[in-house]
Amino acid sequence: MSGPAGAYWCETLLIDGAPVTGVRLETGPDGRLSRVTSGTGPLPGDVRLGTVLPGLANAHSHAFHRTLRGRTHADGGDFWKWREAMYELAGRLDPDRYYLLARAVFAEMLVSGFTAVGEFHYLHHRPDGSRHPREHAMERALAAAARSVGIRLVLLDTVYLAGGIGAPLAPEQLAFGDGSAAGWLARWHSLRAALARDAAGDTGTNADAGTAAGGDTDAHTDAGARVSLGAAIHSVRAVTPDAMREVLRGLPAGVPLHIHVSEQPRENADCLAAYGRTPTGVLAGLGALESRLSLVHATHLTDEDVALIGASGATVVICPTTEADLGDGIGPALRLQQAGARIAIGSDQNAVIDPLLELRGLEAGERLASGRRGRFSPAELLAAGGRNGYASLGLGDNRLRPGEFCDLVEVATDSIRTAGSLPGQLPLTATGADVRRVIVGGRVVADAGVLVPGAAAGPAGSLRPEVLLREAFAALDSTATAGGTDTSTTAGVTDTPAPGGRP
Ligand SMILES: [Zn+2]
Repeated sequence: MSGPAGAYWCETLLIDGAPVTGVRLETGPDGRLSRVTSGTGPLPGDVRLGTVLPGLANAHSHAFHRTLRGRTHADGGDFWKWREAMYELAGRLDPDRYYLLARAVFAEMLVSGFTAVGEFHYLHHRPDGSRHPREHAMERALAAAARSVGIRLVLLDTVYLAGGIGAPLAPEQLAFGDGSAAGWLARWHSLRAALARDAAGDTGTNADAGTAAGGDTDAHTDAGARVSLGAAIHSVRAVTPDAMREVLRGLPAGVPLHIHVSEQPRENADCLAAYGRTPTGVLAGLGALESRLSLVHATHLTDEDVALIGASGATVVICPTTEADLGDGIGPALRLQQAGARIAIGSDQNAVIDPLLELRGLEAGERLASGRRGRFSPAELLAAGGRNGYASLGLGDNRLRPGEFCDLVEVATDSIRTAGSLPGQLPLTATGADVRRVIVGGRVVADAGVLVPGAAAGPAGSLRPEVLLREAFAALDSTATAGGTDTSTTAGVTDTPAPGGRP
């Protein structure tokens, strides 16, 4: 699904955080910008937009955690207690239900202003660890869900081998495992080929397959890149240093790699006890700290960790609403940026899906911890939401230059939240409720909270994310007492979806 050649004219466009008036964006059939002209008027046939931000990336998501929103707040406890509820939920997901849920969650992301998502995916197999009847059924469910609504997906397929340092997978974690690093690598390469085949069947070309379509180093940035494949190591809790070394050796260069790091003090303590190093220190010792790596959370770091990450040019994905919700703590985001790291944002458990609230949370954490305002400038916040997130996902710079994706987010400047706001300060005033048209790959895919026909759910699916969410909840809650059984064999997501349609 490539975008049509055409042009958008923006009354105001925030380029590198600075408002520029009268910007005309021409797009090619590959959905990328072909020409950018500022200080000009619209031409006949241009789609006229108001105030526009570059596309915003959700660099860390677990779509299925969305189901826990509003269902764990009375329980108290901490991250570890919340995790028990998450495991119970994971056991009830089969490919069909996973598709329905991911489609709804991706739709919610899209209408809220996220144009791209990095889905940190580890629900690979059936609850007992056995394979789904259809090869890569869960991963293809995610890909089909993203294609269905029009969001740009980087599937961060995750290696997850242990239940903790020195501990085997617990029974409720068996669905995540592949036995060994070699097992995961074999599945990753097979998945890459399968996604390429699906994309070719979906579009008649392999242009949309991203990493899956081509060579090892630059295929991730192939023309369409609507669905592409990245990689993730779950954490030092779930993968030993030896297994990480094998993964690093077997993973093609240029593929974005993500890992959870130091979200909880206990992880640091366990890691120090086992390996004599912090999680960041373990990664440094393996040579894994490099620009393609994204460290998620990085909440509890030593000064040495901050220096190592900063010097490597890696990205740190802060997930402010999740970290607040789970009581994780406030990570040293500004110190990391000052040390040289790029800061991106993620919605993680999806208790909140709103790029602007994540950006505000990033700044709010810094202010609360320091007692000072203006820690991240509004332009730096937009960079975290836009270009740093895109870079983290291997999607290029996203600075609205020719050759980059035509991914845009129009924001209302006349709402009760934004009236009177200077355009450059919208990251601190607007919310996802102010998002109007959302453009991915040169195509309008959402408008004022609703998916746009032709780019979206298709004739059998609603265009309203809330309807899709209710549908997904109904399918999932029906398994709560019946027990989740995998009924997916050849139906539902087992088929390649028709272009623009649901499977
Ligand atoms: Zn996570």
